[in-house]
Amino acid sequence: MRHPLLKNFVSFALPVIFLAVASMSLPRIAAFPPEWQVHLVSAPYLIFATLLLLSFHFNRGRVFCVALLLGVAYWSCRAFLQQGLVDFRTGMIYQSLAVLLPVNITLFCFLRERGVLTTAGRLRLAFLAGQASMVAWFVRYNYVEIQQFVGKELVVNPFLERFLIPQVALFLFLAGGLLIAGKLLVRPAPLESGMFGALLAAAVVCNWLTTEHIVPLFMGTAGLLLIISVVQDSHNMAYRDDLTGLPSRRALNEQLMGLGRQYSIAMLDVDHFKRFNDTYGHDVGDQVLRMVASRMQGVKGGGRAFRYGGEEFTILFPHRCVTDATPHLEEVRKSIADYQMKIRSADRPKDGQEGKKQRGAGNGDQTVSVTISIGVAESSDGSATPEAVIKAADQALYRAKHKGRNQVCT
Ligand code: GH3
Ligand code: MG
Ligand code: MG
Repeated sequence: MRHPLLKNFVSFALPVIFLAVASMSLPRIAAFPPEWQVHLVSAPYLIFATLLLLSFHFNRGRVFCVALLLGVAYWSCRAFLQQGLVDFRTGMIYQSLAVLLPVNITLFCFLRERGVLTTAGRLRLAFLAGQASMVAWFVRYNYVEIQQFVGKELVVNPFLERFLIPQVALFLFLAGGLLIAGKLLVRPAPLESGMFGALLAAAVVCNWLTTEHIVPLFMGTAGLLLIISVVQDSHNMAYRDDLTGLPSRRALNEQLMGLGRQYSIAMLDVDHFKRFNDTYGHDVGDQVLRMVASRMQGVKGGGRAFRYGGEEFTILFPHRCVTDATPHLEEVRKSIADYQMKIRSADRPKDGQEGKKQRGAGNGDQTVSVTISIGVAESSDGSATPEAVIKAADQALYRAKHKGRNQVCT
């Protein structure tokens, strides 16, 4: 997923496509043999159980909580709401679901990940259990006022009257949807995309509660979307470097397996980075690595950047010889050397020996810059292994360092 816009698009499109497919399959379900329809009703339980196990295994506490929430919501729909909203009890349970689903899904989408069985994780589970007890209490002791409050019509509008969802809940779904969509736009991430899907599905379930097959179909789809998101998230964890967001060495190794006969590999290393860290601190060093990575990601000519490890990076050029790749590497080298990174004055070095790297920028802030050295090697006929090409690129890098750094060597 190289283009950021494409990534944004996928994080919205995947839930929407899944839910659209679910809607389209709705009329067909009625034609299924009755024994299949029984499976449809129990499928969501299986899906939620899988999701609980997966999110527990990967220690994804937020998804674990949402899975529990959806599981209990589904069970409540099956146990109490199959006949629709026929009395106080069913009305109260329905309203609680319509309010608590959007609030909790949105909340868990914005909370920080804190694991499943950690103190924070347990508190969150207790928070959910508290809500369930509260609903049971309201139902048991006939809290009519609550029902009147949630059922209140805020806006008199014939369009809104068509919805079964109480206006308060409709507003919560809408606000939650916009908030999560905003979060996804700024920073697309699989788990949030799954939760976005879960929120949409919950809205459909709440509004078409009594339409045949809707509840199991959409609840099941929400669970599936979340399962996909957990799998995708753990895949990202394994193949993406956390600090820079670049694909990791493991991703590089996989790419190396599928290369053709001709390709070039460049090894890149930040110059005097140890000294830079010593002068500005590890945090500024990390910031620089992120900047360097983002410049490398902009490489043209079909190059793909990876974090090889530490302050070393790799750019792979499939189907290109060194002569073709070099100008693009030269461009990357220059764009990093020219980049003046602002750092906050709090990050200032205490001794300020590294004066030549500091340039005053007024108001106490300062800018820093780094250079990189690059070594590049190629395979032209498939006779060399990728490991041998990397080794040759490393030797070229060594020459670049030796010749004074901030340059590309072949
Ligand atoms: P050269 O120009 O010869 O490459 O010198 P150098 O100082 O860059 O080389 P060396 O390999 O000795 O130093 C690499 C340093 O990179 C050591 C370590 O402090 C730093 N480093 C490695 N990984 C990270 C990281 O993730 N964050 C930060 N801030 N520093 C890192
Ligand atoms: Mg190094
Ligand atoms: Mg270095």
